[in-house]
Amino acid sequence: MRHSPMLATLLLALPATQAMAQAAPPAAPAPAPAPTASAADLATFKGCMARLRGSAAGKGVDGASFDRLTSSLAPDMTVLPLLNQQPEFSTPIWDYLAALVDQQRVDDGRAMLAGHAATLSRVQAEYGIDPATVVAVWGVESDYGRSFGKRPLLTSLSTLSCFGRRQPFFQGEFIATLQLLARGDLRDPGITGSWAGAFGHTQFMPTTYQRIAVDFDGDGRRDLVGSIPDALGSTANYLKKSGWRTGEPWGYEVKLPAGFNASQAGRTNRKPLSAWVAQGLRRVDGSAITGVAADARSAVILPAGASGPAFVVFRNFDAIYSYNAAESYAFAIAHLADRLRGGAAFVTPWPTDDPGIGRAERRELQTLLLGRGHAIGEADGMVGTLTRRAIVSEQERLGISPADGRAGVRILEALRRDSGQ
Ligand code: CA
Repeated sequence: MRHSPMLATLLLALPATQAMAQAAPPAAPAPAPAPTASAADLATFKGCMARLRGSAAGKGVDGASFDRLTSSLAPDMTVLPLLNQQPEFSTPIWDYLAALVDQQRVDDGRAMLAGHAATLSRVQAEYGIDPATVVAVWGVESDYGRSFGKRPLLTSLSTLSCFGRRQPFFQGEFIATLQLLARGDLRDPGITGSWAGAFGHTQFMPTTYQRIAVDFDGDGRRDLVGSIPDALGSTANYLKKSGWRTGEPWGYEVKLPAGFNASQAGRTNRKPLSAWVAQGLRRVDGSAITGVAADARSAVILPAGASGPAFVVFRNFDAIYSYNAAESYAFAIAHLADRLRGGAAFVTPWPTDDPGIGRAERRELQTLLLGRGHAIGEADGMVGTLTRRAIVSEQERLGISPADGRAGVRILEALRRDSGQ
């Protein structure tokens, strides 16, 4: 498994993939004030860094390099609450997909396919991963390089290495970052990423970077921050090492046969495709399932239960899933790749009367909220805590139940009517 929460940087102020798994929680409490380091914390940090200096020396980061890279670091205690953060609002899969696979990301992705066609062709020849899949990962991970995360990596990782409940894990990530800087793959000690340390075009964690990244532009450095070819090649290398099968589909939207027993569904309940087909499983348009062998191990997934879209998935879905272990995430990548190839939206509607909205509609919603006097910052299409709280307030004012903070069609249309549009 590669990285912890990182999609958050794209569309939510909290980890989307974690939020997915949660039931709707009660109304959120006010956030705690940002913690600052006490004198005791600073002493702890100093002692911890001295120990890490010794550990790093055994891993190719000599004392002089360690001192050069870390001498100005101070702990950032604001990162620690994020370790234990529970999502304040649940994110239904239709919201998640509406934001990640919106028209803007499809249009941008097609431009990237064209603009980087030569590199992507070389990537396909070298690793066997098709251009649309590689570009879809890039688009979901960092919005094609627009969103790398804003927290200084060495500061976050050194803090998490010395405080909190996952210190050994983060020490490994911290030292891996120092290795990347010491050997010159990375040159800027001030690089930023997610609070947990994922960074660059592909949002690799540092240890994954150490293991998987490739120098695809041939300049002698593996640079997933500054080099798009390195990033695209590394993404493909990741998928290849995760068991990608060249030329196979990830899966299809399907039509369940009458009487299908939904308890058979689930990503880990694998059967030969022929066993599903024998039950009557077909693609959603009624055609046969093609592109994989009859005995290909396959699972049926019902991401929103038996009344929503149904999918059959194969080995390549698992390769995508391994990138960040969340089914919603894997569906976003897979679906974006299909859309980049010219495919249509899913046929079966999600089981909701309040569908999700893309970034253009989110910006419109935020503009309407700003017009109502909610101080939510810029209308940037990123639905974070402030926007959600403002939505709760407007839902209550307009009598919309549940007042759950969701950015969806229902509140957007209500605010349009309310503002006379
Ligand atoms: Ca390079």
